[in-house]
Amino acid sequence: MPEAGASRYSPGSLLMTQSRMTPAMTLLSHPTKPFSTSTSFSCASHQSTSTSLPSNLDPSLKSETQTDTGADPTDRYAAGLRLNKEWAAQTAREHPDLFPTLASGQTPQILWIGCSDSRCPETTFLGLKPGDVFVHRNIANVLHPGDLSSSAVIEYAVQYLRVSHVVVCGHTSCGGVAAAMGNKNLGILDPWLLPLRQLRERNLELLQSMTPEDAAVKLAELNVREGLNIVKQKGVVLNAIRERGLQLHGLVYDVGSGVLSELDTQDSEEVIRARLTAFQTE
Ligand SMILES: [Zn+2]
Repeated sequence: MPEAGASRYSPGSLLMTQSRMTPAMTLLSHPTKPFSTSTSFSCASHQSTSTSLPSNLDPSLKSETQTDTGADPTDRYAAGLRLNKEWAAQTAREHPDLFPTLASGQTPQILWIGCSDSRCPETTFLGLKPGDVFVHRNIANVLHPGDLSSSAVIEYAVQYLRVSHVVVCGHTSCGGVAAAMGNKNLGILDPWLLPLRQLRERNLELLQSMTPEDAAVKLAELNVREGLNIVKQKGVVLNAIRERGLQLHGLVYDVGSGVLSELDTQDSEEVIRARLTAFQTE
């Protein structure tokens, strides 16, 4: 058993002091930012390095953070392991064919491209089940044309899994979008978020005419549209649209309400003709 409360004294949490935080770390640790990361972590193989009293001898610690079994009730990793067993048993009872079917393979209808944000778990908020959604998520759901990871996911999902729908989904309160709307040096995040800054540049007048909140949502929406354009520039996608009616969708998820909004992403005939001329391959 990991020692209860060990994560409270992890080296990572000790390092995360305000004075040592870089701008990127400040952004990442902001409680309202989507890719807020906790530096507290625990692992069953790691014991606390704290020199304080062992928790079983320190009643003040136990009364606040421990149950009688020694588990830290605030540790979501430990809770997740426990809840997984309950979820697996309940799901097997309610859907006895699900796990045996999934064990033999997957036939998802949806490829989902979304943000890594912890508040955006697509299968959960779609109300779907394991096996329904093939997923690629990264910070701010940015698609770089040459990115090997997203390109491989798209090609595998479209060509081999033969999904029927490709979704690019942005969301409100996106930290990546907020970063691109700011002007701080964020290290490795800067080249990652470059497409967002380019969108900001190209739509500066529009964005500056809005409140900061509305401008952030608008940039998230523009990013979805840009992501869809990149998906549509892939020959495997264009072939699937033509040969079997693959559908593409742009969505924005409201983390404050849990509701998805569908964007009108219909292209004009002129745009479609130009795209096919430039990107269709044999
Ligand atoms: Zn995000």
